[in-house]
Amino acid sequence: MQIQNYIGGSLINPSSNLFLDNYNPAQGKVYSYIPDSEKEDIEKAYKAAKEAFPSWSKTTREERFRIMMKIADLIEQKHDELALAESIDNGKPVKLAHHVDIPRAASNIRFFATAIMHYASESHDMNGVAINYTLRKPIGVVGCISPWNLPLYLFTWKIAPALAAGNTVVAKPSEVTPMTAYLFSKICIEAGLPEGVLNIVHGLGVKVGAAITEHPGIKAISFTGGTETGKAIAKVAAPMFKKLSLELGGKNPNIIFADCDFENALRTSVMSSFANQGQICLCGSRIFVERPIYEKFKTAFVEKVKKLKVGDPNDASSNLGALVSKDHLEKVLGYIELAKEEGGTILTGGEQIHLDGELKEGNYLAPTVIEGLAFNCRTNQEEIFGPVVTIMPFDTEEEVLTYANSTQYGLAATVWTQDVTKANRVAAQLESGIVWVNCWLVRDLRTPFGGVKSSGVGREGGFNALNFFTEPTNVCIKL
Ligand code: NDP
Repeated sequence: MQIQNYIGGSLINPSSNLFLDNYNPAQGKVYSYIPDSEKEDIEKAYKAAKEAFPSWSKTTREERFRIMMKIADLIEQKHDELALAESIDNGKPVKLAHHVDIPRAASNIRFFATAIMHYASESHDMNGVAINYTLRKPIGVVGCISPWNLPLYLFTWKIAPALAAGNTVVAKPSEVTPMTAYLFSKICIEAGLPEGVLNIVHGLGVKVGAAITEHPGIKAISFTGGTETGKAIAKVAAPMFKKLSLELGGKNPNIIFADCDFENALRTSVMSSFANQGQICLCGSRIFVERPIYEKFKTAFVEKVKKLKVGDPNDASSNLGALVSKDHLEKVLGYIELAKEEGGTILTGGEQIHLDGELKEGNYLAPTVIEGLAFNCRTNQEEIFGPVVTIMPFDTEEEVLTYANSTQYGLAATVWTQDVTKANRVAAQLESGIVWVNCWLVRDLRTPFGGVKSSGVGREGGFNALNFFTEPTNVCIKL
């Protein structure tokens, strides 16, 4: 199967007519081909988006709502096809794609289609002297660049507010997981999205992503991905005064106090460590357990992790599927070696798993728990982004806050305690964009989403995203 770019409403080959291999990570085999696009393709996409902007930005919000709701309906109608495609492309268990990725992609579109109907701007009355009101105008052509871990989920999370606010878009999904973005372009055609309003260009980050970032006509970039890539984008975009929203890496702490609901903390920590093979930016990768329950928690946690099944993503009984690529598997295995060098003890996992038959070349890794590391070693400071967690005890609140806040990251944190006062106190002191108390990944799409420190700049979610994708003009009228 050959994937195509979606430019000016049509599915077309890249200018170079060259294609890259697209791998099925569960089998380690090439199963489709993706456009190896160039700067020239971004230029074509930009021109189409520019041409579409005057009309789309003036399209009534009711009409934008109607088209976006049609897109959401079509995602739901094609749910099974999309879930299977996501699983094959990414290696994640198909049941996860069924329950999380695809429903959330439809929700993203529906959420912002409805949000734009309720979006209002401010007015400031100066006691009879003058009145100010804020006009919120779409920016123009904007760029959306997304990663491979939650492909359609994160792709739609960016595109939906951009389109709802009246912008036209040049978007690039990860080259590692392009398939559902391609299927999504077909859905947009079927839903009657006008030509050029959304343009999807596939290819390498260093070519296609960089061309979006550098393009002088693309006035805003919404990016989700690694911190190093975020830095490279900021370096190019900042001197051009582009609006930037950067959702970057994390090294999230999971803090378990002795007075927690033990069973709930245990069950959820297994999930928050290993869901999607640990490849969710919000996964807790450092587990801190208060000393009085440390041994009990550790033993029960390791026992549960040992029971997780790593297997065929298409098998409903698999808890973990394959890691997204060979390169990524190597990177994660490298961190396990580093943890050993740093004095860590592998309590379970730590090695690649070789399955049989068609799956024998797949990128499988046993869920790994490591003990005995200092909070400030590299393993505990750098993002691994795989099925690897460290576990360590703590004695005081002050100590655990030092550990938790010690990394360059600050995306998400989880706190387990039945003491509400303590939960509030700790949440307020965590350097983190998101804090979950006695839960994980409970998401209300209206809330601000994003990180502090090297985890990002800006917030997505709800009206934050619509504010990002609009430019305010204050109009002051003398009375
Ligand atoms: P990358 O930063 O490698 O890639 C993200 C996207 O950027 C991809 O589409 C990539 O293309 C593209 N890209 C790569 N280089 C450039 C460049 N120079 N200019 C512009 N675009 C470029 O991240 P991953 O895909 O590896 O995703 C994993 C990372 O994403 C982790 O660090 C994770 O924490 C983070 N993440 C953050 C989230 C958040 O909300 N904060 C959510 C999910 C993930 P290509 O794939 O072709 O290289």
